[in-house]
Amino acid sequence: MALVRDAHCHSCGAAFSDTSTYPRVCAQCKAQVWANPIPVSVVLVPVRHQGRVGLLVVRRSIEPKKGLLALVGGFLEEHETWQQGGAREVREETDVVIDHTSLVPFWFTSTEPRPNRVLLFSTATEMDASALPVFTATNETSERGLVFGPEGLEAVFAFPLHIEAVRRFFAARGITGAHEFITV
Ligand SMILES: [Zn+2]
Repeated sequence: MALVRDAHCHSCGAAFSDTSTYPRVCAQCKAQVWANPIPVSVVLVPVRHQGRVGLLVVRRSIEPKKGLLALVGGFLEEHETWQQGGAREVREETDVVIDHTSLVPFWFTSTEPRPNRVLLFSTATEMDASALPVFTATNETSERGLVFGPEGLEAVFAFPLHIEAVRRFFAARGITGAHEFITV
């Protein structure tokens, strides 16, 4: 049997007769079930390394897009602001501690073709590579590194909208050229 999301009412458990659309209204208790787009907080962390500024990235060790690079981010927990959730993801995935109050909104966009996620990109305060703590690989990220430019990201990055955010970041600083990934 195929698994159908929200096949039953969240309040009383009655089965929905029509599971093709949202919102669903329960025939028994009249409760509604919605499937709103989910926000994702993604943080661009500028890191100065040997006179240049790169962006902090991780190599994914989970699907989807296992083995490719991504900016750091994830879903928010119910008690978190987008700033707190973004800072937590940076800490969990890279061991880098950032002040969540220092995050500045950078760009937001809906996913394509299904607009079921809203990506909230923000920028952290620039730090120096010498200040990065030791990185310990997790079951989600196998490597921590930097990219230094916009070119060639399609070949190494997992998600097109992360590429777009990185391009916007470097374009705003007048930085061109190869991405030049390095491990940090
Ligand atoms: Zn119900």
